[in-house]
Amino acid sequence: MGKADGFLKYQRKEAPSLPPAERTQGFQEFHLSLKEAERREQGARCMNCGVPFCQSAFGCPLKNLIPEWNDEVFSGNMRHGLSRLLKTNNFPEFTGRVCPALCETACVCGLNDSPVTIRENELSLIEAAWENGWMAPSVPSVRSGKKIAVIGSGPAGLAAADQLNSRGHSVTVYEQADLPGGLLMYGIPNMKLDKTVILRRIEKMKAEGISFICGTKAGRDISAKSLRDANDAVVLCCGAGIPRQLEAEKEKPEGVYQALEYLTASTKAVLKRESPAVSAGGKTILVVGNGDTASDCVATAIRQGARSVKQLVRKPAPVEKQIAWPHPGRLQRPDYAQEEAQAVFGEDPRMYQTEIKKFISDADGRLTSVIISTCGKESELPADMVIVAAGFSGADPETAAAFGLSLNERNRLGNAAYETGENGIFVCGDMRRGPSLVVWAIAEGRECAKKADRYLEGYTNL
Ligand SMILES: Cc1cc2nc3c(=O)[nH]c(=O)nc-3n(C[C@H](O)[C@H](O)[C@H](O)COP(=O)(O)OP(=O)(O)OC[C@H]3O[C@@H](n4cnc5c(N)ncnc54)[C@H](O)[C@@H]3O)c2cc1C
Ligand code: SF4
Repeated sequence: MGKADGFLKYQRKEAPSLPPAERTQGFQEFHLSLKEAERREQGARCMNCGVPFCQSAFGCPLKNLIPEWNDEVFSGNMRHGLSRLLKTNNFPEFTGRVCPALCETACVCGLNDSPVTIRENELSLIEAAWENGWMAPSVPSVRSGKKIAVIGSGPAGLAAADQLNSRGHSVTVYEQADLPGGLLMYGIPNMKLDKTVILRRIEKMKAEGISFICGTKAGRDISAKSLRDANDAVVLCCGAGIPRQLEAEKEKPEGVYQALEYLTASTKAVLKRESPAVSAGGKTILVVGNGDTASDCVATAIRQGARSVKQLVRKPAPVEKQIAWPHPGRLQRPDYAQEEAQAVFGEDPRMYQTEIKKFISDADGRLTSVIISTCGKESELPADMVIVAAGFSGADPETAAAFGLSLNERNRLGNAAYETGENGIFVCGDMRRGPSLVVWAIAEGRECAKKADRYLEGYTNL
């Protein structure tokens, strides 16, 4: 700890964001950065705790060496800080942007004051690295002669591929979408995670020897048998993207979309600089749900020029309550999408204890309104488009079945040791764990790579 009294001297200062009304004019990232001197002060706030709860079981799933690199941020020794950061996290540029920062909820500084800005410190380190050319490809000097197929290119698949390639195995990543990244690419919208950030990382991985085959669904476009025959191990990282259906969706008129269908169309349009196949522009929009996905749909609809956006939430409004420390969970931060709705439409979009009972459509089968129930009282709400972000029920049974595997009763695959029950087939990420977070997907990919490596080599030094 370079600055013993930093936590007394400096207040938490977060990087500024563009004002909500201004940032909704486009899909660019809206978080700005602090000046170098200010960032160093934020590093100085870390107390280098004897027991660093930030990296403990209550904090970071990756067990990031947080106090070590906070100190390097304070000292301005960014290159050394980077080497400590990359020891535990393959992709800090992703977590530095979208992680809900479980570490900050656990930070000891948060007991009497506000926590250290751990996530932003992480982002400043990794972005300094990319800017200064410290992220040059590192090709393994020796190849093991073993081949591995990684199925799915979300953060779990990318982390597993990165780890296994660094051990000298020859890794091919198969992805059913046209671009790699999983939900990083076609879930989380561009304003939260610019897609060039993902493509920059993929280029580095390619230069390091990893092959990517996109537009190919394993088990359908390429058989599970041929993948098994051609490889020494297979790692399944296919996510948990099967959407949960609403009761009312049994009769689904035109104008009702699943969140991922909508968000994917939007990001594709942003990348190709063209109009989206599904747009909220000029429409009365209802978003169903209350999680990250629902927020991303609200924010996307605002950017597309929706006439109005309401968010229907089944649960009651949350009550502000003091939570005991250390608390394994998220910091209560104002959600970016609700801030934007407030700025653009003058009100919070959320309607609590409200659910859709019935869709009403015109003679052509197009949605015109919905019957909602609020605290048991029914009413009609006009709607041109409903976006359902009611969560995910689990993994795709088709892919599991193609590999001769069955999902468990929670629609997941595998056990705590990342095994599937089939020799040489491993599983990780949301497909094993259920819908979760990017940081957990990276942690799972790393742990699963250890298992696969031990299976192939008899030991692992990953
Ligand atoms: C809209 C949205 C916003 C989110 N926002 C955040 C956030 O802000 N912060 C956060 O931490 N987490 C967020 N999450 C959660 C996070 O994105 C996921 O937990 C994480 O991406 C899971 O990683 P994964 O690699 O296990 O799976 P995924 O990212 O789902 O990737 C799985 C990949 O496998 C591919 N695939 C599936 N089957 C096959 C097959 N048979 N053959 C080939 N490819 C296949 C899929 O196309 C997909 O690309 C969000 C999720 C959503 C939906
Ligand atoms: S808990 Fe907070 S103050 Fe303590 S080491 Fe971690 S980041 Fe620093």
